[in-house]
Amino acid sequence: MLENHRPTSEMQALDAAHHMHPFTDGDALNAKGARIITSAKGVFVTDSEGEQILDGMAGLWCVNIGYGREEIAEAAARQIRQLSYYNTFFQTSHPPALELAAKLAELAPGDLNHVFFNGSGSDSNDTNMRMARHYWQLKGKPEKQIILSRWNAYHGSTMGSGSLSGMKAMHKQGGLPIPGIDWINQPDWWSEGGEMSPEEFGLARARELEAKILDLGEDKVAAFIAEPIQGAGGVIVPPETYWPEIQRIVDKYGILLIADEVICGFGRTGNWFGTQTFGLRPDIMTIAKGLSSGYVPIGGSLVSDKVAKVINAGGEFAHGYTYSAHPVAAAIALENLRIMQDEKIVEKMAADTAPYLKTKWEALTAHPMVGEAKIVGMMASIALTPDKAARAKFASKEGTVGLICRERCFANNLVMRHVGDRMVIAPPLVISRAEIDMLIERAIRSLDEGMEIAK
Ligand code: PLP
Repeated sequence: MLENHRPTSEMQALDAAHHMHPFTDGDALNAKGARIITSAKGVFVTDSEGEQILDGMAGLWCVNIGYGREEIAEAAARQIRQLSYYNTFFQTSHPPALELAAKLAELAPGDLNHVFFNGSGSDSNDTNMRMARHYWQLKGKPEKQIILSRWNAYHGSTMGSGSLSGMKAMHKQGGLPIPGIDWINQPDWWSEGGEMSPEEFGLARARELEAKILDLGEDKVAAFIAEPIQGAGGVIVPPETYWPEIQRIVDKYGILLIADEVICGFGRTGNWFGTQTFGLRPDIMTIAKGLSSGYVPIGGSLVSDKVAKVINAGGEFAHGYTYSAHPVAAAIALENLRIMQDEKIVEKMAADTAPYLKTKWEALTAHPMVGEAKIVGMMASIALTPDKAARAKFASKEGTVGLICRERCFANNLVMRHVGDRMVIAPPLVISRAEIDMLIERAIRSLDEGMEIAK
């Protein structure tokens, strides 16, 4: 037991009595008690019993540079001493905000030269929704208000972003979705591709966007929002035909493209942004997570010259948050980006550790229970199946085998997530080859154990 906190059982009791966890069955968790994480360094988190857990999920897909970097702690302390808080509402700005905005404009592809700062990915997507609709109002097309999204997408869990998310379980609770949003099907060939080849299926799913625009009327549709690779939906990598067709369709109908890069951004796919990996030209881009490597909450909407010009010329945009461009968060994000650039974290990962992981990950298809293995950069998934050739689902309730495997991973000191019967990883971008070996070894052991239990 470590010294600087209460005994584990006491902390679990306090947690159960007072702490409501996100996306959690409260009673089920409280009955067994949460695992209490007390410290972290590099790619490992340590629990209150001193167990070291390899974090195959980089927290929640966010700790891109790894845990516990001293330079970030120092940048935070310096900024708190200098200017702990000021807002940017009333014709003021401050050095961290303007430096970070300029840095993001430099890093972002195309003409995404403007940033509206938010506190998280969810409220960034709320900003995007309001900005896209406001844009069309200012352009004299106030009827262009519908935002199109996809089933099984995840864009956050506020009223707005939770509605954009195509998660049916979320829509069942709390009055979601709000009006003015519609969804098309996802490009998940493994689960939904049927007899089609991946290429045919990618085109078919992309063309659902065109059909939806024509059905609703192009004069009614403001924007299409999508993650370059669906993360929380199970790391669904679209077939190669998908994104070029989507770009063709949004161009043809003049629909704004909002790329939600909350997970894909800041190196995860092997380029700074997922849209570069897939050749997309978004009008607005959602960023959060890797922007600060999760050291503090910060999000943003990167906005193209085309959209920013109209919004800036349109009088007051009546939108913003107390913590938009929080100076401490901005200073930390700047330091995070400095580390990523100076240490060439994205380049090194893309040239060395990502291809190394890819070879090992794809070899998992030799496991009797693993159907497809998908990986781009440092985000990857495997589909668990009782019959690979038929791409079959388990007869038991979908997700049970995935859940069992996730629990075996956790017991074996590996954080790996499950989405139904898909297992996913997104480790810190700085994971070494030796740590990748450890991740794969623990994953295989957990899959073997999971298969035994599921029999
Ligand atoms: N968009 C995507 C693609 C995400 O994966 C997430 C969170 O996982 C969000 C938005 C919401 O971000 P946040 O949890 O910071 O509100």
